[in-house]
Amino acid sequence: MVFANARVIDGTGAAPLERASVRIKDGRIAEVAESIAPSSEGAAERTIDVDGRTLMPGLIDAHAHLSSDISRSPGFGPPPPLKGELPRPRELGYFVLAKTARALLDAGVTSVRDVGSYDDEAIVLREAIRLGIIDGPRVLSCGRIISATAPGGAIFTTMYREADGPDDMRKAVREQLRRGADFIKLMATGARSVLAEDPEPAQMTADELEAIVDEAHRLGVRVAAHVEGLDGARLAVAAGVDTIEHGLSLHREPALLDEMARREIVLVPTLSTFHDLAERFTGAFAPALVEQAKRQLSEAYSTLTAAHAAGVTLAMGHDSGPPGENAIELVRMVEGGLSPLEGIAAATRGSARALGLSDTGMVTAGALADLLVLDGDPLDDIRTLLGPERIWMVVRGGAVVAGHRHARELSAA
Ligand SMILES: [Zn+2]
Repeated sequence: MVFANARVIDGTGAAPLERASVRIKDGRIAEVAESIAPSSEGAAERTIDVDGRTLMPGLIDAHAHLSSDISRSPGFGPPPPLKGELPRPRELGYFVLAKTARALLDAGVTSVRDVGSYDDEAIVLREAIRLGIIDGPRVLSCGRIISATAPGGAIFTTMYREADGPDDMRKAVREQLRRGADFIKLMATGARSVLAEDPEPAQMTADELEAIVDEAHRLGVRVAAHVEGLDGARLAVAAGVDTIEHGLSLHREPALLDEMARREIVLVPTLSTFHDLAERFTGAFAPALVEQAKRQLSEAYSTLTAAHAAGVTLAMGHDSGPPGENAIELVRMVEGGLSPLEGIAAATRGSARALGLSDTGMVTAGALADLLVLDGDPLDDIRTLLGPERIWMVVRGGAVVAGHRHARELSAA
């Protein structure tokens, strides 16, 4: 298959190629060029003239909670139960997860990193997609989040594996791999969404954090650290985690950002989640948390620009709902100071780095053919990425999986 006549944004931050062609073979990008000579397969090769539309890597969400608990997505799942109705079967949640997978593809999200769901839901969804039972993006799961024994455990229940002391931390890492986790997520600090937790101090000791990172890296998986306050940021960076999630306080200590840039630790700023708590769901949270979130929101934007200036790799993590509105995070990163080209690079190659994937997030020869073709010009208006009607075609691993051009073909067939 060849996409001809495309405006190619390759995800590296380079200026777009105009009127280029992209050849797909065996699920990967075989060639990107000004013009492509017909292959030896000749007429058997399908050419799609995209008529000057923008072709870019599929979006990658580096911080999602795919959980069937859709409390951050009013209207997405089933309506809330009414008194008198029979209790809902827990297994309904798996259908919600399938709907989530479809919504992500329809929005051009071709990979997603789940940083915590209830039970093993993200792993089950990943397997359903991998085995071809349903369509969906590539899913990476952390299994359960490793946290010190903390109030959050009482709220997040089976999303957490509480552990205490370095040996128990190592055991917790091994347990996640036994479940089928792709990487490890830990809570270096408390969470802003838990009234009984102070997100400022570190929640784990240096010994505990180092044990997790050592065990995970020894066994060949990456580590994502939930970090809010500076003490936790210092410990996480010193221990050598691979990604910092949220990291809103980092602007207060520029040397830490320099260290992250030097050690190639990726920052996932998750601006949207601060908007949620400070603006969107104010009635649903304890007032003290809403006030705290307002301060954190402005800090998160300060850290975005400070990290960018320090040369830290940034990734797009929506950490919000509903599924399919993920690109609002990219829009916010651009409104916060990145150029549209830099924002797109963060949401594609930057996010791929957060996931530890070297062969997606780019439109270059050899990469997986995970692509998005858009109506309109996202460099002129980044909000072009938000409208479902702008998603012309979504390709995952060389197969067309979504987009309104795809839908037209399906209805004509
Ligand atoms: Zn999160």
